[in-house]
Formats: sequence, C-alpha cells, structure tokens
Amino acid sequence: MTTNRSFARALIAVLAGLSLAGPAAAQSGATTASATPDRIAVVGVRAFPSPEAAPIEDVVILIEDGVITRVSGREAGPVPEAYQVLETPGGSALAGFWNSHIHLTRPVLMTASEQTDAALQAELDNDFTRWGFTTILDLASTTAIAKGVSDRIEEGRVRGPRLLSVGAPFYPPGATPVYARPFYEAFGLPSAEIVSADEAVARVADQIDGGAAAVKLFTGSIVGGDPDVVHMEAATVRAITDAAHRRGRPVFAHPTDRAGLDVAIRNGVDVLAHSAPIMGPWSDADVRALLAADVALVPTLALFEEAADPRTPVQTAIQQTRALYAAGGRVLFGTDAGFTDAFDTSSEMRLMYEAVGWRGLLASLTTAPAAVVGEEARRGRLAPGMVADLVVVTGDPTADLGALSDVVLVIRAGKVVYRRP
Ligand SMILES: [Zn+2]
Repeated sequence: MTTNRSFARALIAVLAGLSLAGPAAAQSGATTASATPDRIAVVGVRAFPSPEAAPIEDVVILIEDGVITRVSGREAGPVPEAYQVLETPGGSALAGFWNSHIHLTRPVLMTASEQTDAALQAELDNDFTRWGFTTILDLASTTAIAKGVSDRIEEGRVRGPRLLSVGAPFYPPGATPVYARPFYEAFGLPSAEIVSADEAVARVADQIDGGAAAVKLFTGSIVGGDPDVVHMEAATVRAITDAAHRRGRPVFAHPTDRAGLDVAIRNGVDVLAHSAPIMGPWSDADVRALLAADVALVPTLALFEEAADPRTPVQTAIQQTRALYAAGGRVLFGTDAGFTDAFDTSSEMRLMYEAVGWRGLLASLTTAPAAVVGEEARRGRLAPGMVADLVVVTGDPTADLGALSDVVLVIRAGKVVYRRP
C-alpha cells in the first residue's frame, strides 16, 4: 500500500542519515524570490474573488503591507506608482489555497532544524507552495517537528505556507494505528495513546501552549487486529473537545467507521479528517446528524481512489461528500499528503469537483477552512482588508480544472513565496 511505502521510505532515509537535500532540490522549479517590496500589483489576470462572486476580468489587485487594498477592473483606475507589477497574461487569481489535511512526515521536514535553508526550501516548494497552498494543516506529527518547520518559515529564512498543526494526535489506550507504529519505534517518539481522560486534558493544554492550532483524535483507530478498529470512549472524546474548545481550538477526528463517526459527532468534534466510505452511503438521517452537530468534512477522496480497497469505494466517499455539501454542510479540501505520496493536487481537485462542483471546490480551498479556524473575516477571499494570501494559476479553471494544479505565482501575507520561471 502506498501509505506504508511512504512511511517506510521516510524512515529508511532518516535512519540511514542520507543527504536528503539532493533529489528534492534538483526537482524544484522555483526561482528564488528576491526581496519583494511592500507594494505589489497583480494585473493581467481574471480574479475569482470568492466562491459566490462573479469573476472580474482584467483585474487590478493591489497589495500593501500584507493586506489587499483593491480588487477591481482596470477601468476603475491605473496602477499607482511605486508598485511592483506582476503580470501573468491569461491567468486567474484566487485566494490562497488551504490544504486542511497534510502530515509533516517527509524526512527533510521531520529533521528541519538539521537541514540547510536550500534543502528545506526545495521540500516546501515541491510539497506545498508550488500547488498554491498558503496555509497547511498538519493533522498529526509532533509539536516539536511542526515547530521546527514553522519557525524557519516565520523567521523568513525560507519561504513557505503558514503552518497550522495539531502536534501529536490522541489515540485510544493501546491503539496506535498499525501503520504509525513503525514511526514511533524508529524515532523514539513518546506514545500518543491516551492514558486517562485527565492526562489527555492536560496534554491538550500543553500542546496548545506549545503552539498547536487544533487537536486531532482517532475516534476510530485501525489497529490491524481483531477487532480491526478500536474506538475512543465517549467520555474521553467529550473531555478532550471541551478542553480544546475552552482554549478556542477546533477538534479534528479520524472516524474510520460508523461507530468512530458517531462518537465524534455526539461529543463535540468539529471536523472529520476523512470521509468514511466503509460505513456505506450517508442517509438523510446521517446528514442531518452531521449538520445538527455542525461538523465539517475533509473527504480526502483521492486517498480512497488510490488505495482502491473494495471495502472503501471512492464513489461512496463522493456520495457522502456530495450529500453533506448539498444539505449546506462545510467541506474542506485536504489530500493527506505526507501519509501518501500524493503531493500533486490534480486527483483531489478532480474528485472534489465531481462531488461538490466549482463553487464547493473553491470554498473548500478557501472560505470553508478559514471559517473552521475562525478566520473568515481575514482570509479566504480576495477583497480589500483581507490578508494578501493569493494564488495565480494558468488559464481559466472553470474551463479547465487542471489549471488549479498549474500554479505560477503564490503570495502569502503580501510576500511572493513562489514564482514559477
Ligand atoms: Zn492523515
């Protein structure tokens, strides 16, 4: 299975102490962005300001000190002087993309503090930035690994997306997932299994104090035995979600099956980190229960297509996603990259479009994740006053969906973080 191969390769590379910079650096197509001025004008493109808004042809987007100050057609006035003009004829500008399900498991990312800036830069470009991501959600690594990557980005030594992380996950007692066990052994990582509800609540506080932006539970953990799935106790789920919510942090859950989903949505979980095709199509009652609990979904559709297990058909995952979205539920784009090798976003874009259409797809990349972390007033749209997180793709994605994975320019908080030659 791809996922296990990915883990195995990461392990082997790290344990062997290989020079990890080589291949990634050689593949990087990014140019080194010179220091960009505080005023940037993006012109010569059409803009899709939000999932609901009509596109604006021949737009002028002005950015000053990290904030968007204008999004309007060229007829509304020329570009003022003293702006660096970035022009991509025929392209389309959208709010910066969010990948709401990744893992920092690539060897270079796991050992960021030991890596050169060039090696880390190449890895970030190849994995995330070249695909248009200005925010990524790491849904389990460790707090230290996440901090190692995030610090380098925020210090300005490398250019990359904003990294939000859950830090270490929470597994039921004795139920580290079968596919994750080699990692814990190889790296000597502390167990992420819950000992008691009190201990878990204390760890929630520690991780948030250490920088975690959210919490991740395995309400259904695949242990590869009999039973194959171990579920988290309802009272423990509730204790953890209460602790996270007291500190203003959302809680993600890996549900796996119906029991894992039920215990999540009945006990305060905010986001399902995967769809759950093993439980079959979602009925109207299933969807109503999700809406009543105000639970968002990261479907990770390509994961089920790639794994191609007859027990978890991708078409069932698409049905679940479509049913929740059609009823007004929130759907977030996420690839599970890092767990798989699927850094290329085109498969997930295609499957998400099949499930939720253009508006749903654009919302899943922008406004929906911003809302989940309470940032909808600052991020997710191209509009004056919004943080200048922006991606320019080639062509018109409403005519050719492949454009969404053909990124030419990425600006994060007003700084160019990726520009394809
Ligand atoms: Zn994952």
